[in-house]
Amino acid sequence: MKIAVCLKQVPDTEAEIKWDISKGALSREGMDSITNPFDEFALEEAILTKENYDGEIVAITMGPDKAADVLRNALALTVDTVYQLTDPAFAGSDTFATASVLAAAIKKIGDIDVVFCGKQSTDGSTGVIGAELAAILGYSQLTYVSKIRQIDAAAKKIIVERSIEGGNEVIEAKLPAVVSVIKGINEPRLPNLMGIRKAGKVEIPKWNAGDLGVDVGKVGAAGSSTKVVEIAVPPPRGAGEILKGEVDDIVNTLTDKLIDLKVIK
Ligand SMILES: Cc1cc2nc3c(=O)[nH]c(=O)nc-3n(C[C@H](O)[C@H](O)[C@H](O)COP(=O)(O)OP(=O)(O)OC[C@H]3O[C@@H](n4cnc5c(N)ncnc54)[C@H](O)[C@@H]3O)c2cc1C
Repeated sequence: MKIAVCLKQVPDTEAEIKWDISKGALSREGMDSITNPFDEFALEEAILTKENYDGEIVAITMGPDKAADVLRNALALTVDTVYQLTDPAFAGSDTFATASVLAAAIKKIGDIDVVFCGKQSTDGSTGVIGAELAAILGYSQLTYVSKIRQIDAAAKKIIVERSIEGGNEVIEAKLPAVVSVIKGINEPRLPNLMGIRKAGKVEIPKWNAGDLGVDVGKVGAAGSSTKVVEIAVPPPRGAGEILKGEVDDIVNTLTDKLIDLKVIK
């Protein structure tokens, strides 16, 4: 079985988020970056699939130089091959342009049975890349997947459970398929020290637009069909108020305030 997994590098949201309001984008300079948390579940599911059915895993990421870190982490976790899709022409790509680049890489790798993605990224948060990938590649599209029940590469068939409002749905689909997974589908493992050391020495292969046969007129800010025209950061919350005094007084004051604010009647 040949498995691909799409990993995105995102800013560490535990740290302070900085925006470039004029560009309508995150200001990634100087921010700590991590593997998109949902992609850790996608990566673990790729590893479990390899363990259960044999095969190989190829991890890809589209991003600038430092995005190589997410691929090193994948290598440390026994992913077989990685490719970083990077080109100045890709900067500012919207979701469809991003999906086109990822799809071009998946086509170039060839003979993929299953592509794993996260449900969404924690920065762009559109949650559409999996669906766009499936549409561009003509693969089956399986979203919100909470469990892989069975994969039969010979019969070109996959059965999964999808998490839906109030329950689960069992879907059978043809392979190849794009599977976007939800949080909690598994428990992502951590790399060991030996794996981290080995991965640290690997030269990460890079593919640019030319390598991928991507039309540079259809990617990047200029080639994207959508544009962020405005971005606004909500004002910081006020400091709040700590009520002091006897418990009865505090309860009365709090009740009055909640009535004034129409939270209670
Ligand atoms: C107009 C516009 C301009 C933008 N400009 C920039 C910019 O200048 N710089 C910038 O970094 N971003 C930019 N973005 C954001 C960038 O295009 C999106 O992050 C990207 O399209 C993926 O969308 P998402 O993060 O919402 O992915 P989602 O659909 O939420 O992600 C779902 C899954 O897709 C996979 N995935 C998503 N992105 C990647 C990736 N890059 N590599 C590998 N796998 C991936 C992951 O498995 C992820 O869990 C821009 C977006 C728009 C709309």
